[in-house]
Amino acid sequence: MTKGLTNRMFLLVLATTFASTAFSIWAVTLDNSHNADQVLLYISHTGYLITHNMSTPAYVLYIISLSDTWHKMLKNKLQMTLLIAPFGILVALLIVNLFTDCVFEIADHTYVRGELFFVLYAIAVFYMVYGLVYLFRCRKILSRSKILAISAMVPLMLLAIMVQFINPRLVVEMFAGAIALLLITMTTQRPEELIDVRTGLGNYNAYVENVKRSFANNKSFTVIMLNISSFLSMQSMLSYDSTIMLLRSVGEEINKAAKHTKLDAEAYYLDRGRFRIVTIYDDKKLASETAETLLETLRKNHVINSLAIEFIPNICVTNCPDDVSDFTTLISLGGNFHDKSYNTGGVLYAAELFKQDRFDMANNIDIIIEKALKNNSFKVYYQPIYSVEKGRFSTAEALLRLIDSEYGFVPPDMFIAAAERNGAIHKIGDFVLEEVCRFIASDKFAELGLDYIEINLSVTQCMHADLADKVMATLKKYNLTPDKINLEITETAVAYAQSVMRQNLDKLSGAGVSFSLDDYGTGYSNMRRMIQLPLKIVKLDKSFVDEQSNPKMWIAIQNTVKMLKDMNMEIVVEGIETQTMAKQFTDLNCDYIQGYYYSKPIPEDDFVEFIRKTHIV
Ligand code: C2E
Ligand code: MG
Ligand code: MG
Repeated sequence: MTKGLTNRMFLLVLATTFASTAFSIWAVTLDNSHNADQVLLYISHTGYLITHNMSTPAYVLYIISLSDTWHKMLKNKLQMTLLIAPFGILVALLIVNLFTDCVFEIADHTYVRGELFFVLYAIAVFYMVYGLVYLFRCRKILSRSKILAISAMVPLMLLAIMVQFINPRLVVEMFAGAIALLLITMTTQRPEELIDVRTGLGNYNAYVENVKRSFANNKSFTVIMLNISSFLSMQSMLSYDSTIMLLRSVGEEINKAAKHTKLDAEAYYLDRGRFRIVTIYDDKKLASETAETLLETLRKNHVINSLAIEFIPNICVTNCPDDVSDFTTLISLGGNFHDKSYNTGGVLYAAELFKQDRFDMANNIDIIIEKALKNNSFKVYYQPIYSVEKGRFSTAEALLRLIDSEYGFVPPDMFIAAAERNGAIHKIGDFVLEEVCRFIASDKFAELGLDYIEINLSVTQCMHADLADKVMATLKKYNLTPDKINLEITETAVAYAQSVMRQNLDKLSGAGVSFSLDDYGTGYSNMRRMIQLPLKIVKLDKSFVDEQSNPKMWIAIQNTVKMLKDMNMEIVVEGIETQTMAKQFTDLNCDYIQGYYYSKPIPEDDFVEFIRKTHIV
């Protein structure tokens, strides 16, 4: 079921072993019949010797292919000679035997060993030792269980050879070989672990194994990545069968494209509409031709169960190790390149993508975050919020900033999303909470006359069981009353609402901490959940506000404000950039205005200065 060179080599080992077993049975049967035809006897024994002695070099070929080191092997003349010469000697011996009977002879209907028969054993032993040494040298590339299983062949065979050498009538060699091959089949050639059953292509494990091994071997290879845009939403509209048919047809297109350009490559289906093609050799030009061909065919409609399905294929060609030289970067590239902002409509090239700062940043975001946490380079900025009722700035929102020494300003949307994925969000969240509380407890804050500071909580933070205790402990540490902070949760968090988040919110609001619903109007508003949660403030999102020139949107805004007011909620409008906009929303009876019109988010000292100045005015 599995494909590729390794599997062809394994098949060769199986085939030679099978053939030699068959010849052996035939030869022994003829031997036992005592008056068998001399020629048939000769053929059967020669057949046995040839095929049997082919299985050991085949075993070595299998090991070389499994470790994916042919490119090194082919360059090494000595190694190649050692690999080929003994087999040459064997063939020569068997030819010479026709005239001299030096290896064996058929005399009087019986098979008799000649004086050079031991050379055959020597060659077999040589190949096994060769295989073992090779295996040992590749110990870093292959897993231990594989190495053990493959090397088990040697002691098993040696034992059997010894037994059979001492007593030629005990034919246990083939039996030992069969057991050894069974061991290898069970440990390394497991199709169920390497094949994606839906598409018949290699699966994620197989891809990872291939790519990791290729990097470890310093091989030059190209990966063509294909991500189907919005695969999940497409899948939710198709039946199970149609999805599989679609995936299969994409898999076929991939194989066709590779065949068309004569590219030697392995194809994989990972998951969620992601396919990968990994070249076996260093074929940069062929790979990009294949990618272009593939893009052309995939752009056309796919008719599945009389349904015309159209999707956007995102294709990125990555040359390793030129563009990407390690496994982690390759995997994160695979998850990043299909971002709309890089889409050119054509085939993307990793080398080009990495020239874009934002892309490079997104690809290294995990490292950037780790570095920032280590060097304490996260900073909390504050954006003042204007209270219409009080006619002054009464609160502010704490917004995290990350200025990296290499990449400069890293957008919060990017690092917050990444931190949620990699778990760093908890450390980051703790830092923001601590910083804000320290600021609120400071003397300079007291002079400003602000009511509270708004702190953003991410979805994963809300779902952490110890959130409430952590917040309360920090407030206590700085001797603050709970009304000094307001926690912002997003609509997405509300949509995910589950019991842990519910408990956190109840506990905190019971203790006197208030909550805002952030980015209202962007996510999937779930009215029922929103009503159930203890929310005091709703923040109308900038994107909502941006469209206020559309008459229908303005009606929606007016009625949303009225509805929220009737529910006794306070309203903050985000993203106000002009005086006209500020006036419009003030007239609408909104409680708070936040936006660049007043100030961008600024560092703590500038913020203190900013509020002080407004007092003087
Ligand atoms: P958000 O909570 O909705 O924050 C408001 C965003 O709108 C901020 O973007 C702010 O700089 C921006 N903004 C405010 N007024 C204007 C305006 O007039 N015009 C424009 N164009 N933008 C305006 P920022 O700082 O880039 O933050 C983006 C998001 O990152 C935040 O959205 C928030 O969800 C998240 N975030 C920021 N800091 C933190 C944090 O400490 N913790 C968590 N969990 N998330 C944070
Ligand atoms: Mg916010
Ligand atoms: Mg917001």
